Amino acid sequence: MNLPEEAAARGPFWRRGGRLHVESVPLEAIAARHGTPCYVYSRAALESRFREFTAALAGRDHLLCYAMKANSNLAVLDVFARLGAGFDIVSGGELARALAAGADPRRIVFSGVGKSEAEMRAALAAGIGCFNVESAAELERLDRVAGAAGKRAPVSLRVNPDVDAKTHPYISTGLKENKFGIAHGEALGLYREAARRPNLELVGIDCHIGSQITEVAPYLEAVDRILALHDRLVAEGIALAHLDFGGGFGIRYRDEAPPPIAAFVAGILDRVGDRPVKLMFEPGRWLVGNAGILLTRVEYLKRGADRDFAIVDAAMNDLMRPALYDAWHDIVPVAPRDGPVRRYEVVGPVCESGDFLGHARELALAEGDLLAVLSAGAYGMSMSSNYNTRPRAAEVLVDGETVHLARERETVPMLYALERRLPG
Ligand SMILES: *Cc1c(COP(=O)(O)O)cnc(C)c1O
Repeated sequence: MNLPEEAAARGPFWRRGGRLHVESVPLEAIAARHGTPCYVYSRAALESRFREFTAALAGRDHLLCYAMKANSNLAVLDVFARLGAGFDIVSGGELARALAAGADPRRIVFSGVGKSEAEMRAALAAGIGCFNVESAAELERLDRVAGAAGKRAPVSLRVNPDVDAKTHPYISTGLKENKFGIAHGEALGLYREAARRPNLELVGIDCHIGSQITEVAPYLEAVDRILALHDRLVAEGIALAHLDFGGGFGIRYRDEAPPPIAAFVAGILDRVGDRPVKLMFEPGRWLVGNAGILLTRVEYLKRGADRDFAIVDAAMNDLMRPALYDAWHDIVPVAPRDGPVRRYEVVGPVCESGDFLGHARELALAEGDLLAVLSAGAYGMSMSSNYNTRPRAAEVLVDGETVHLARERETVPMLYALERRLPG
């Protein structure tokens, strides 16, 4: 990814005199103040993505529920909540986070195959907008839990449309062999059953076919199946207020060329036509992925027998995607230097051979240099761990000239504070 120099094409990430900035702040200043590794997000980038998606839906009743598992920092949620976003949650923990960030509970949808009774009760008490139910057993449980609480639970069934999203197998969710959703062929029967249950209120149909999808066609296939089901339900007198087409919109990490969001949305709007339903989406990666970077410092340069290593202070516990999916993230110097370019394996300090951030990267480096791992705003911090007893990175949100510390760096004693030695 070429980051623009100076003014002209200035996005949230740009260079002045070669030095990488986020909005008005040089990354060197952030490293000096908050240390490394550090996640850095741009408020302007988050907002412009949200507005772009919203603009594509102008004139249509809609709700964007940000899939907060992509990046659940309270400051990030706050940015979206202020823009009127809803949230797609997958746990009681995410419910608590969304509420703590100021989310409107009626704009929360609850996805996931394993909702516990306690999670259902908490979501009912909060008054969330919709449970995206993923199985017959869950439907039965939700009816019972809602009855005991004296409530009616708003419900969509998550239908598995059995389309191939043509993405990485670990992030494809819409095929019939996946654990997610209710088989397309069983959905009608389950809707009839749900309509008879006293403590449920049917409000929509939900689907989500996978992640990092870079083609429109799989969506349209899924939309056709959802619309066929919708029309059938209407014919039986089961009217639904919304259709939720999930998330999964792909972004550019390297050379992917996903169509603009307006192209995805236009195709979907065209199929939906004038059916009087609210349209919902659950974008995660698309909203936050390219709004964040991971800032890291080179600890050592090491000559190996047949390759050179740049050992940096961020590792797979901070950004798991390369180790987990063999994912590509561009890695660029924060302040380019003259000097010989070498081909480096960019690796972290963790004791695993899979601990890498990038293979064979052509860089001119010296010890102490800062590097920016790009496109790290989604599934970065939210998938991080404390493996090797490494404190999690700090997170900052840049807003113009302001650097807001969105999460303090963890300290080592925090990491074993809940543990106990044996008695005696
Ligand atoms: C993960 C997930 C999303 C978001 O996926 P992205 O690829 O990040 O857009 C949306 N809906 C559901 C149900 C999910 O599990």
